[in-house]
Amino acid sequence: MNPHYSESMALFKRASAVIPGGIYGHAAPAATVPGAFPYFAHHADGGRYWDVDGNAYIDLMCGYGPILLGYNHPEVNAVAAEVQAQGDCFNHPTEYTVRLAEKLTQTIDGADWAVFGKNGSDMTSWSIRTAREFTGKKRIAKATHAYHGIDPWCVPGFGGVITEDRAQIDGFEWNNIESLTALVEQQGDALAAIMLTPFHHPAFEDSALPTPEFVTAVNQLTQHYGILLIIDDVRCGFRLHPQGSHKLYGFEPDLICFSKALGNGYPISACVGRKAIKIAASKCFLTGSFWNAAVPMAAALKTIEIAERDQIAIQLERRGTQLVEGMLELGLRYGIPLQASGPAAMPYVRVADDHSFRKQQALCAAATQNGLYLHPHHNWFLCAAHTREVIDESLQRFEAALQGLEL
Ligand code: PMP
Repeated sequence: MNPHYSESMALFKRASAVIPGGIYGHAAPAATVPGAFPYFAHHADGGRYWDVDGNAYIDLMCGYGPILLGYNHPEVNAVAAEVQAQGDCFNHPTEYTVRLAEKLTQTIDGADWAVFGKNGSDMTSWSIRTAREFTGKKRIAKATHAYHGIDPWCVPGFGGVITEDRAQIDGFEWNNIESLTALVEQQGDALAAIMLTPFHHPAFEDSALPTPEFVTAVNQLTQHYGILLIIDDVRCGFRLHPQGSHKLYGFEPDLICFSKALGNGYPISACVGRKAIKIAASKCFLTGSFWNAAVPMAAALKTIEIAERDQIAIQLERRGTQLVEGMLELGLRYGIPLQASGPAAMPYVRVADDHSFRKQQALCAAATQNGLYLHPHHNWFLCAAHTREVIDESLQRFEAALQGLEL
């Protein structure tokens, strides 16, 4: 494969004339390596996508997480089309909203109620308001470098953010019990919530799983000081454990935020919580013009049903292990030492001792040019369409990338 990106480049030029930055946010060219990756998608199916130049890729980013069952999933699409035929956006919610809330409360460990939005940020920001309403306290703690969305209290970067936006936000080091304990001992009486992702997956860093001691400390400290524990399961939700990723690691959250995989690509997010917080939740105004739309609710119901039926979390773990073990072995064979981190279903493999990420960028660019789309600085995602055969093919493409690589 020898991809060319002329259409991507032409579209980017047009985009730059009429859209600030051309492509912004996590999809911006600067987030990968300018010129070495495609910029615009055309279509997708199963575990693959095609860019606007007609290049095809096995997709190990899955839209940065929303694609859980595979792109263009026939069962999810069939339900979505059926519901769409009756209408999507009304004056009222539909029965699908109630059914989805019922389903989440039956499925997710510790969930007694659910509310819905469109994006992860809708829910992470609403959940901190709810924690403040419930506890009557102001401060919120989050792990350093953890991503929770684009609202001013947590957005990475400072454009348009004022000091006051962050005045009530504290940081602590992931997996560092001393750092967390020191913060809670100092601020515990003022802390409304600690927000944590189930595992630490910052960009430009290896991922880190929580140690059992850290999980115990988080549970004990939050309970002792009357601090709500919010698990931001936006990125991991439904990939690691069908009852919520906190179940896998032992966190005991009060509120949990989901989005991404919940609708297999249809726009939806959710926050679920414990019964004790339901009244406080009902006082925190929550709405959006499109937030009651029926199609994503129905798509999410179907996605959860299939994820349970097909034991997707187990499948992803198996195929991720096949991928990661295969990559590490190939790295050894070609004299390029690689290191892996994160859970197998959402792995991050990178060139060892590559502090500038230059070698990692070259590796991922070479993989992409060999038809395996990998991000150099962000964890990867498997989906159910990445079968054993697709992973075998991914490893062949990865090997082709290593063969031509000069680091
Ligand atoms: N939390 C986490 C852990 C995320 O990964 C993301 C998105 N990458 C968000 C929150 C924000 O979600 P959204 O982009 O849908 O607003």
